[in-house]
Amino acid sequence: MIPLDEARARINRDINVLGPVKVRLSEARGLVLAESVVAAEDIPPFANTAMDGFAVVAADTDSASPDNPMTLPVVATIAAGSVAPRALEAGEVMRIMTGAPMPEGADAVVKVESTKAVGGNLVEVIEDVAVGNHIRSAGGDIGAGTEVFTPGVTLSPGHLGVLASLGRLEVQAHRRPRVAVMSTGDELIEGPTPLQPGQIRDSNRWTLLALVEESGCVPVDLGLLPDDDPTIRAALARAVDEADVVITSGGVSMGDFDLVKVILSELGDFNWMQVAIKPAKPLAFGLMQGVPVFGLPGNPVSSMVSFELFARPALRAMMGHTNTERLQVMALADESLNRFPDGKTHFQRVRLRLQADGAWHARSAGGQGSHQLSAMAEADGLAILPDGDGVAAGSQVKVIHLGVC
Ligand code: AMP
Ligand code: MG
Repeated sequence: MIPLDEARARINRDINVLGPVKVRLSEARGLVLAESVVAAEDIPPFANTAMDGFAVVAADTDSASPDNPMTLPVVATIAAGSVAPRALEAGEVMRIMTGAPMPEGADAVVKVESTKAVGGNLVEVIEDVAVGNHIRSAGGDIGAGTEVFTPGVTLSPGHLGVLASLGRLEVQAHRRPRVAVMSTGDELIEGPTPLQPGQIRDSNRWTLLALVEESGCVPVDLGLLPDDDPTIRAALARAVDEADVVITSGGVSMGDFDLVKVILSELGDFNWMQVAIKPAKPLAFGLMQGVPVFGLPGNPVSSMVSFELFARPALRAMMGHTNTERLQVMALADESLNRFPDGKTHFQRVRLRLQADGAWHARSAGGQGSHQLSAMAEADGLAILPDGDGVAAGSQVKVIHLGVC
C-alpha cells in the first residue's frame, strides 16, 4: 500500500492547467480568470444621487428643520438616464431620481422624505444637509486605470457583474475540462427493467457524471459497458478523442474479469495503486495518448470517495484553481466514530452541522460499507480517521466538508 499523499503526488505530475480561451460571461461563472482586468472607465462613470430627492446647494439648507423649513423653487426634474437641462443656481433645487447624474452647481441631495411639496413648484426642505450628502462620486467604486481583477481569480456572480459594468462581455479564462465517464460490469443494467438473477443497476455513472458537473467540468456520458475487451477498448479510444479526462468505474481490482486494468495497461502508461485508505483502496491512473485516465473502483462509495480524493483535485487544477481542496473543518464527534487499526486512513461518511455553540458537529451518516451508498448520499462530510481505534464521542475530528469548494 502507498500513502494517500504519494498517490496524489503521482497524479499531480501528469496534470496540467488547460489553456485560456475566450469565454462569454454567461459561460464564465466558476472559471478561473486568465488575464488581468484593468478598468478603462470610472465606475460609477459620473457623480449621481443615491436617493430619490432634490439636488441642492448644501449651504441653502443651513439650519433647515421641521420647525424651520426652507422653501425653495423646483426648476427641473432629472430622471435616471437623463441629464439636467442647465446648471443649478444657488437658491434653487432640482427634483432628482436615484442614479441620475448630479447637475452642475449642486453639491448635495436632500432625500424626498426630508421635504414637503407645497404646490406652485415649490418644495419645503426640513433637513440641514452637508456637502456631498447622498452623492455617489464618479469612480467611487472603481477608478479608471485600476487593476480590478488579477489572473487566478475564480469568477463569482459578483465578478461577472463588475466585468459587465466595465463593458466586458467576454474574458480570457481557463476552460472547463470535458470529462468522459463510463461504467463497466457484466452485472450492470439500467433503469426499471426487472433485475435478472445476479444483476444490479448501474449507479456509479450517475454519481460520477454529477460529481464532474459539480466540480465545474463538462460531463460526457460514455454509457454502460459489459466486461468485454473489444467494447471497452473501443470506448476508451473514443473517450480519449473526445475528452480531456476519462473516468472509468469498475474492473480495476483483483477479479478474473477486471478487464479495464488489463486494457489500460496495454494502451497507456499506468500506475496500479493500492492506496492506504478505506474505502477506495484500488486506483488506476495513467495517461492514454496524453489524456489522464482515472480507473476508479466499482464499489459505489469507493468510486465517489476516490473521485473526491483523486479526480476532483486534478480537475480543479486543470481548471487553473490553485486551491484544489475542499474545506476541512474541525468538528466535535457527537458519537464515537469507530474503526480498527489496519494501516489505512479511513474516510467515514458523516452528517456535519454547524450548531448554535459555534462548533461543527459530526455524527455517522449511516452504514459505512463501501456498498452502502445511502449513507454517502446523506453525508455532507468525510471524517478523516487516521490509523487507530477511531474517535471517541466528544473528541475533535477533522472532516472534509463535501459542500464547500
Ligand atoms: P469491481 O470494481 O468491478 O470489482 O466492482 C466492485 C463492486 O462494485 C461489485 O460488487 C460490483 O457489482 C459493484 N459495481 C461495479 N460497478 C458498479 C456500478 N457502476 N454501479 C453500482 N455498482 C457497481
Ligand atoms: Mg466489475
